[in-house]
Amino acid sequence: MLTGENLKERGPLLSGGKVKVVEGGDTRLGSVLNGFRALSGDLEVVAVHDGARPLVSPATIRGTFTEALASGAAVAAVLAKDTLKEAVGGIVEATPDRARFWQAQTPQTYRRDVLADALERFGSERDATDESQLVEKAGHKVRIVPSSYDNLKITTPEDLVIAEALMKDRTGSSLDTRAGFGYDIHRLVEGRPMVISGTTLEHPKGPQGHSDGDVVLHAASDAVLGAIGAGEIGIAFPPSDPRFKGISSRRIVEFVLERVSEAGAELISLDVTIVAEEPKIKPHYAALKASLASAFSLPEGRVNLKAKSNEGLDAIGRGEAIACYAAASLRVPRSAAP
Ligand code: MG
Repeated sequence: MLTGENLKERGPLLSGGKVKVVEGGDTRLGSVLNGFRALSGDLEVVAVHDGARPLVSPATIRGTFTEALASGAAVAAVLAKDTLKEAVGGIVEATPDRARFWQAQTPQTYRRDVLADALERFGSERDATDESQLVEKAGHKVRIVPSSYDNLKITTPEDLVIAEALMKDRTGSSLDTRAGFGYDIHRLVEGRPMVISGTTLEHPKGPQGHSDGDVVLHAASDAVLGAIGAGEIGIAFPPSDPRFKGISSRRIVEFVLERVSEAGAELISLDVTIVAEEPKIKPHYAALKASLASAFSLPEGRVNLKAKSNEGLDAIGRGEAIACYAAASLRVPRSAAP
């Protein structure tokens, strides 16, 4: 959605039949309402983005769309870096736990029906600083999608200096490309769901494990953590901790993506090789690849998935286990990872 006078002039350049330029409102919410009313009827998902955040990455945009489609509402955000103080009249009254606080960015992305409901019921509350507040107030759950600190809002002159420096970084001058490697293996046992790459396949056996035993998400998660020098998933999710029993490995991936965001890094690509005698993976390549890309908020073009049998050898060859090797590449700020 585009609003504003300057864009009116550029409308013909942007259009190609797909861009409508609408008048902005006097508040953010007013602009959102104008844009929302101008949407064509067949759109399923609506994203609201600040024009003042030009450095947003494709991964962040895709992440909010994927999450909005799945759960209704998603907001790009980063964990608060500084310690927060609650003060009244200049006197500190409390120091809340920083780990619970996220700084909301855009895109803020919604299933159309969810945003329509919130705007209809609370659209007149013009002092709301983002429409997510209205969606929350309407009782919908809004999910956080970990974003990157460089998706900054250019508001003050120094923001412009920072943005220019970040743009330079993107040409590669002060970013390193780092590789990480991961491996995982799980026993296959009767009566467990065959969870792999974030998808469940029909199969009489499934991976035994403390979590859902998803070897692909585990190996890929370890590869990503490896590239930022952040250890391995077993440290944050120890098998001995009953809190993590039976958890979906997508939660592990969310944790890993938060670490990537904290490091100011960006995941570029994943390459995984599944080693299994059964189930046959090749018929499911497209589904497993799409689900892996979605779990890591990557475009599918940056994900590669392949499978090999173990030629009948050893435990994997006898169908007693399934394994996965994964490689990840990330862009990591040199200053954050010397
Ligand atoms: Mg594992």
